[in-house]
Amino acid sequence: MRVKEVLKILEKIAPLKLTEGYDAKNGIQIEEPDVNVKCILTCLDVTPTTVKMAIEHGCQIVISHHQPIIIPLRTVFKSDWYGEIVSLALKHDITIYSIHTAYDSVKEGLNDYVGKLIGLENMHPLQHHNGDPTSPHGMGRIGVLKETLPLDDFAKQVKEKLSASTLKIVGNGEKLIQKVAIGTGNGLALIDDVLKSDVDVYVTGDVQYHDMRKMVQNNMAMIAVEHDDTEKFFSKSIREKLERKLPYLQFVEFNDKFYHVLD
Ligand SMILES: [Zn+2]
Repeated sequence: MRVKEVLKILEKIAPLKLTEGYDAKNGIQIEEPDVNVKCILTCLDVTPTTVKMAIEHGCQIVISHHQPIIIPLRTVFKSDWYGEIVSLALKHDITIYSIHTAYDSVKEGLNDYVGKLIGLENMHPLQHHNGDPTSPHGMGRIGVLKETLPLDDFAKQVKEKLSASTLKIVGNGEKLIQKVAIGTGNGLALIDDVLKSDVDVYVTGDVQYHDMRKMVQNNMAMIAVEHDDTEKFFSKSIREKLERKLPYLQFVEFNDKFYHVLD
């Protein structure tokens, strides 16, 4: 199977038209359309190390959540970060394809995957795609827990299920939680939708002190983890979908974790 045929399957899994307006360009970052595909690497971020890992495993496609090229490249130096990604990929006939907010938004995409992990059921979008309330796609999800839990107990469940390195809680730890909003990645864009909703808590990543203060001021509980602790599941989630359609291909999951947290 050639690269362009795999990309057609990816378009069905995460249609690029679902990309949010504020997002960088999704889809093809670097393309070698006619190469025969034997192995696909899935990842959160594309770094020079990621591309080297793809080369080492003999992969022809790298599928990432975040786009590697989010600013226009005026010049490409082989020795710098972007140049190394571009030159290594081109030299080894590697296609790089990113699906960021298209995969956040699509039904059964990243928000649904992470929502299920933390125990949510009956999910629907927090912010429907294009404001269309009948659309099954959109950013964030609202779902319910099978059993009501105190906030602190639910937070422990979230930390464990996400293997989260850090976790901050806003709100009374004894507040009973059943209806939950989730926004994977940077949760800021969805805070106003959360405040308009009737959820008991908002679970997200990458929030700052003043965002948490805003939740307190609006009497809303929040559980905040690291950005990548909500998105590191991209590599597994997309791999499982592709593997079902392309069982004869090899897959490699690789997340280039570039920082650590001290306990
Ligand atoms: Zn992200």
